Amino acid sequence: MDQAKTNDVTSVSVFYDAIVLGLGGIGSSTLYHFAVSGADVLGIEQFQLGHDQGSSHGETRAIRKAYFEHPSYVPLIQRGYENWRKLEERSGKKLLFEQGLMEVGPQGGPLISGLESACQRHALSLEEISATRFHERFPGFVLPEDCKCLYKPDGGFLLVEDCVAAYCEAAEGIGAHIAAETTVLSWTTQEGRVQVQTDNGDFCGERLVIAAGAWASRLLNDMDVKMQVKRKHLHWYSVPQDAYVAEHGSPVFFYETPTGYYYGFPSLTEETRGMIKVAEHSYGEDIESPDRLSRSVDSAEQARVEKFLDEYLGLEQVEALKHQV
Ligand SMILES: Cc1cc2nc3c(=O)[nH]c(=O)nc-3n(C[C@H](O)[C@H](O)[C@H](O)COP(=O)(O)OP(=O)(O)OC[C@H]3O[C@@H](n4cnc5c(N)ncnc54)[C@H](O)[C@@H]3O)c2cc1C
Repeated sequence: MDQAKTNDVTSVSVFYDAIVLGLGGIGSSTLYHFAVSGADVLGIEQFQLGHDQGSSHGETRAIRKAYFEHPSYVPLIQRGYENWRKLEERSGKKLLFEQGLMEVGPQGGPLISGLESACQRHALSLEEISATRFHERFPGFVLPEDCKCLYKPDGGFLLVEDCVAAYCEAAEGIGAHIAAETTVLSWTTQEGRVQVQTDNGDFCGERLVIAAGAWASRLLNDMDVKMQVKRKHLHWYSVPQDAYVAEHGSPVFFYETPTGYYYGFPSLTEETRGMIKVAEHSYGEDIESPDRLSRSVDSAEQARVEKFLDEYLGLEQVEALKHQV
C-alpha cells in the first residue's frame, strides 16, 4: 500500500488485496475482518457512512441464537455473538443488549416448532412461559389461548447504526481505507484482477466483495443473479409511559399470528420512553429499484400493525409517531 485512499481519490495507482462494495451492516463487518486479517482493503460507499437509505438503520435489530427459520443458522449466530462482543471490546461501545426475546405462536406452528427444533439440534436452552405466569412476567402482552410462549434471555437487540460505525472506525483504525460518497458504476475482471469503476475514479484489487444490499441486483446482472427487492417499514408508536421499558425488563417480542409475523422493541432510553418500534416481518411490497423508492407510509400495512398492537399488546388507541422505510 503506497498511498492513502480517501474520498477525493481519483486514480487507480493502488492495488488492493480486496475491495468491499457497500458499507452497510454486511460490508462494514467484511471490511473490518479483511483489515484484521492483514489485508489491504478499500471500502466503497455511495452515501455518507451511517446513512438511512439502505437496510442498516432504524436504531435496533433483533438478534437471537434460536433461529426458527432453520437450525443451520444457529452456528452462524453463535459466531456473530462472539464477534459483536469482540467489537464491543475493541470500540469500547455497548452494541449488543441481551434484553431477552419472547416469542409467541400457535403450538406446532412454524415459529414454535422451528424454535424447538433449532434449540434441540444445538442444545440451546429455551424457557416456556406458562399461561399463568405470562401476564405477570410480560405485562402489556397477550398470550392467546391456543399459543405457546418461548423465552430466550440471551435474545435481544443490536444498535444497528452504532454497529456499522464501530466496524468502519475499527477497520480504519487498523489501516482499512474508505471512499464514502463514491458510487460504483460497474466492475470488470481481467487476469485475476478486479477493476472497479466509480464516479470518483477507478480502483483495482485482487478480490471484490459485493455487499450492496438492495442495490446488488444491478451489480450482479452479468452473473445472472436475480433478486427481488422488497420495501419494509418500521413504525414507532406512542405507548403508556412505563409499560414497555427495556430497563424494566420489557423484552423484544416476536409473534406468529394468523395474518403474519410481527415483532417489536421496547423503549430503550429515557428519550424514547413511551415509544415502541414495531414492524411486520411478513410481506413487503415488491419494488423495481431502491433508487426510486417511495418512502411514504403504506396505510394498509400500518392498519395491520395497529390491529396487531390492539390484539396482542392490548393497545387499542395508539398514536403513530414516525415511520421509516
Ligand atoms: C426494516 C428492516 C428490519 C430488519 N430487522 C432485522 C432484525 O430485527 N434482525 C436482523 O437480524 N435483521 C434484520 N433486518 C435485516 C438486516 O437489517 C439486513 O440484513 C442488513 O442490515 C443488511 O445489510 P447490508 O449491508 O446487506 O445492506 P445495506 O445496509 O443496505 O448496505 C448496502 C450498502 O451498499 C451501498 N451501495 C449499494 N450500491 C452501491 C454502489 N453502486 N456503490 C457504492 N455503494 C453502494 C448502499 O448505499 C448501502 O450502504 C432488517 C431489515 C430491514 C430492512
